[in-house]
Amino acid sequence: ELANRMAEKGADLVKTLFKMGMPVTMTQTIDQDTAELLVTEFGHNIVRVSASDIDLQIDTTEDAEDTLAPRAPVVTIMGHVDHGKTSLLDALRGTDVVAGEAGGITQHIGAYQVTQKDKSQITFLDTPGHEAFTEMRQRGANVTDIVILVVAADDGLMPQTIEAINHTKAAGVPMIVAINKVDKHEANPQRVRERLLEHDVQVEAMGGETQDVEVSALKKQGLDDLVEKIQLQAELLELRANPDRPAEGTVIEAKLDKGRGPVATILVSRGTLKVGDVFVVGAESGKVRALIDDKGRQVKQAGPSAPVEVLGLSGVPMAGDPLQVVESEARAREVAEYRQGVLNQKRTTTAPASLETMFSALKDKQAIEYPLVVKADTQGSVEAIVASINKISTDEIRARVLHSGVGGITESDVTLAAASGAPIIGFNVRPNAKAREIAERNKVAFKYYDVIYTLTDEIRAGMAGELGPEA
Ligand code: GDP
Repeated sequence: ELANRMAEKGADLVKTLFKMGMPVTMTQTIDQDTAELLVTEFGHNIVRVSASDIDLQIDTTEDAEDTLAPRAPVVTIMGHVDHGKTSLLDALRGTDVVAGEAGGITQHIGAYQVTQKDKSQITFLDTPGHEAFTEMRQRGANVTDIVILVVAADDGLMPQTIEAINHTKAAGVPMIVAINKVDKHEANPQRVRERLLEHDVQVEAMGGETQDVEVSALKKQGLDDLVEKIQLQAELLELRANPDRPAEGTVIEAKLDKGRGPVATILVSRGTLKVGDVFVVGAESGKVRALIDDKGRQVKQAGPSAPVEVLGLSGVPMAGDPLQVVESEARAREVAEYRQGVLNQKRTTTAPASLETMFSALKDKQAIEYPLVVKADTQGSVEAIVASINKISTDEIRARVLHSGVGGITESDVTLAAASGAPIIGFNVRPNAKAREIAERNKVAFKYYDVIYTLTDEIRAGMAGELGPEA
């Protein structure tokens, strides 16, 4: 990189560094003093570039009024476990008038778009749950325009319902309450409306402004009504974006695909992402090799509010990472390399500090450690799970995620777990045969989950168990 900037041969720099007593390789990072010395040695002027010169800033300038076109609302479904989030997502997906005629096979890419009879579209993020929602928001990605709060009419307000309300309020996103399971005998929608008042959610029937609708995801009742309310809310929000500019978007989900390499689902926020576009996404770069929509079809481009799978990345970015199209591959690589460097630096500088606090915590309070290894199917799930687990710790016992990652459980995960007496948490993933064999020998426990809430609950119970009956 330095050689490039000086228009010198990399090998010459390495040679000079060798002479200076620094045996380095071509791609190794050198410190600033050495770099300055080297630059002077080669007879060049030193120009310090600041972070803002290298890194790509998020373009906060708004597009001109006359470039804006209406865009589809982006909707997230939240609510307590088993209240019907997944069922409702499936039912809403069924309202798509395009899916059938296109003959596409529905793909799980983290989001999908439905087209209504009147041609209007709605984008749904299909990773339900407030963990994912809040994680994204913490990373600066406010992709959701509207939240649908699902409350089962037979069960009423539950802890996660209340959490979802709080998360939605904190984000300042408008909410539509879907009172689900109204087909059941025990259903009591009125009770739900009343209980919502206790949490400052006033639905229209109670004289407030929050829209509510009775649905049955199972019987597919009330869906038209719900869709209408989403459209109404979207109109109020006047959602618009400029489709004619280099694309910007956000990573909804990312994974390493066996056959296709790194794949990320991008929700375009403005502009249009096209095949061949060069981009930076988080600390990765790339050139769009192919775009695949939620129906598994290859498309040439994706505009505002459209979720699309992007192929052609240098590596796996993180959920919530911004994507920006840039003018050249060299520029894209430069930004990605710079960001990788920042990430690496963060890792090495924060580690000793956290170790220190851990030791002092151990000294002060004799906190017991509860080690865990976490593997999940997507980067988004990994992040959400680790964040949730970190919140469980008390003064007496603290959960410590030794290792987390995307993909099936491997031998190396088991070896690590065995060495620390940690169980392995598999979220929508399973161990391979070899891993299972080693685990059996070393008595490593596997725990499988597909709901984050159940996972944290069981870990909490497990931790309490470690403390014994007194605690
Ligand atoms: P999630 O955990 O919130 O995603 O909930 P699910 O969608 O998995 O639903 C939990 C259970 O409730 C499943 O057994 C569903 O079949 C059932 N369920 C969902 N919606 C309805 C509904 O409208 N009526 C009835 N009777 N059952 C429903």
